[in-house]
Amino acid sequence: MEKPEFDSHLLRTALAQLDRTALRLNLEPDIHERLRYPRRALVVSVPVLMDSGKTEVFQGYRVHHSTVLGPTKGGLRYAPDVNLGEVTALAMLMSWKCALIGLPYGGAKGGVSVDPHALSRRELEHLTRRYTAEIMLFIGPDLDIPAPDLGTDEQTMAWMMDTYSMTQGKSVPGVVTGKPLIVGGSAGRREATGRGIVYAVYHAAHRLGQNLQGLKVVVQGFGNVGSVAARLLWREGCVVVGVGDVRGAIWNPHGFDVRQLEAHVAESGSVAGFPGSEPLGNAELLERPCDILVPAAVGSQLREDNADRVRATIVAEGANGPTTPEADAVLRDRGVTVIPDILANAGGVIVSYFEWVQGLQYYFWRESEIVSRLQEVMTRAFSRVWALAAKEGTDLRTAALMEGVRRVAEGYRVRGLYP
Ligand code: NAD
Repeated sequence: MEKPEFDSHLLRTALAQLDRTALRLNLEPDIHERLRYPRRALVVSVPVLMDSGKTEVFQGYRVHHSTVLGPTKGGLRYAPDVNLGEVTALAMLMSWKCALIGLPYGGAKGGVSVDPHALSRRELEHLTRRYTAEIMLFIGPDLDIPAPDLGTDEQTMAWMMDTYSMTQGKSVPGVVTGKPLIVGGSAGRREATGRGIVYAVYHAAHRLGQNLQGLKVVVQGFGNVGSVAARLLWREGCVVVGVGDVRGAIWNPHGFDVRQLEAHVAESGSVAGFPGSEPLGNAELLERPCDILVPAAVGSQLREDNADRVRATIVAEGANGPTTPEADAVLRDRGVTVIPDILANAGGVIVSYFEWVQGLQYYFWRESEIVSRLQEVMTRAFSRVWALAAKEGTDLRTAALMEGVRRVAEGYRVRGLYP
């Protein structure tokens, strides 16, 4: 196990974005300074008895960025390169995202530095339960509520909920969201992030004078977010011409049948090798001609060295932090409309909020209700951001950050500084 690494590209990006936004908002220096730091950060070691009989120790993190607007909310990530800096940056982004949408939450994030695909199911369960035990004092239905993110899913949330509940002597469904339906999950949560992306793309295309029918789509990442975005855009009449995952990318200028592609992935574990497709490198996928590019995998995929070769007119950020500030400037100058992560992928936390509210009330809504409320919240948020961007003469990311940061800052302002 190594020392926690705090420096990360994503954290430098998040801080640079905050500093620019603070300047634009003319924020008081003392509030700006408070926003630059997480409220608390926990580093834990997670020993796991492996199937080999050896004990391996993994490093885990949970960071609460801001608690000023309510309990904290944010995903749990399992990936080999997770570090304290990345988790801190992602927690900060969650603060802006929740505030932008108007949810009563602060931002949090968690992570374990592990390759989940290299572990057996038993090892993953033990890792998840021990990690949950280690961060026990940091989470709770009115304190901090984890959810799935990269490398984690409904099963991970069920293990977390069970571990927490066992220590309380009762079932506590509200401690996590993104749970299986049977233990208090919400209808529509699994599709929520992908569905939210479709609403965001629809509104952006509409504002640019296009409808979705026939638009060519490329999606990087074919997990929870990417596969659902691809399927729902395809259902809306888009032509999905390129997709990729960690094992490779594929291309078909006539478009894929996304249902068949999903069946292929369920069977083989990857989009690679889908019949009738041309294999591509992951880097090349991002540079192929299309109308809509949805990066839905990991951070820093659109950079200074490839942004000038992106040929999409709309980039909808399914992933968190897929575009570096340098690439952002290139895309802006080239007239590409970038729908920023804190707006485009907010569907996940919106339906997580619905799940949390339903759990607290022990009263569950129909899927149609979830979908229409999600659409309404996404539409309102999109319109606010679009209008602010027009008023300020700026891009959508700057406008979204202005709105999110302004609201969090207002919380600090009215609550004052303790003691
Ligand atoms: P996931 O683990 O379900 O899927 C990730 C996908 O990305 C997989 O297909 C994987 O093969 C692919 N991938 C991983 N590394 C890659 C690489 N280097 N190059 C190309 N492809 C790669 O994860 P997810 O939940 O779909 O999350 C994807 C992104 O969306 C993350 O950035 C996450 O933070 C963000 N996000 C997720 C949610 C959610 O509700 N799950 C909500 C908001 C944002």
